[in-house]
Amino acid sequence: MLSWLRFSDLIQGSKIIMRLCRFGEGRLGLVEDASVRDVTAALDALPMYRYPLPSFDPLIANLEKVTSRVQAIAATAPSQPVSSVTLLSPVANPGKIVCAPVNYQKHLDEVREDAQLHHNNAGTMAPIHTAGLFLKATSALVGPGEGIALRKVDRRNDHEVELAVVIGKTANNVPAADGYQYVAGYAIGLDITIRGPEERSLRKSPDSYAVLGPWLVTPDEVPNPGNLNLRISVNGEERQNSNTKYLILGVADLIAYASSFYTLYPGDIIITGTPEGVSPIQPGDIISACIEKIGTMEVKVRAA
Ligand code: MN
Repeated sequence: MLSWLRFSDLIQGSKIIMRLCRFGEGRLGLVEDASVRDVTAALDALPMYRYPLPSFDPLIANLEKVTSRVQAIAATAPSQPVSSVTLLSPVANPGKIVCAPVNYQKHLDEVREDAQLHHNNAGTMAPIHTAGLFLKATSALVGPGEGIALRKVDRRNDHEVELAVVIGKTANNVPAADGYQYVAGYAIGLDITIRGPEERSLRKSPDSYAVLGPWLVTPDEVPNPGNLNLRISVNGEERQNSNTKYLILGVADLIAYASSFYTLYPGDIIITGTPEGVSPIQPGDIISACIEKIGTMEVKVRAA
């Protein structure tokens, strides 16, 4: 199987596929600047799966086959403005959504200082090496076009903007030095959170509380995921603005750490943690999240 870098080398000189989205009623798109080409026909390259279904996401597990097909049909595929489509999560069926808590020192500092954030929950006040990782339910996953439907609106609901990593091949006990070889691509992740004393996996797993988008950017577009500006604004007001260079455990470290506990499968998502500046959101808000080299996505907030 060719790695992404070798695949890129292979098609050097022609157009390299970099940004894949899902939109509308399960369509596949190739994003070029402000346009999206409908390359849904490339999904014909996927093998047929029967029950019991595999524990990986079929598109991500067969990404090279599909992108070869995308490459072949893109030039004649119909194009429309990205702004005219409803963007879905670029991964449809992840096996798990792995989450890094308190992976930026300044966010850990703000959590420790604010009882509204930590609720005397010791697990939320420990550094990542002690706190470990947690999982969000896969049923929480939506794309930016689907919006966030807030539950428990009498309680504090917060935004968290995070670099999201999509695993490209099966990873078990991977050394950090090899971590990047297992990356299919990157996206923006929003880890929406109800504050309170319950376990993270409950408070962070209501439907729509995991937003992934606006598209999957392949690693050749993101040579150093350890130095990306990331920011989020709510109704035009900036709330978080940091850089992934402040991650305590970086992308490769997280892949090593997670895969020391469980096998990561193609399509599994790791959201790498949020920097300082988390703040409440309410129905009616419009969130805009941006990560350098990936893109910008707008997400509407409503009541469930
Ligand atoms: Mn988070």
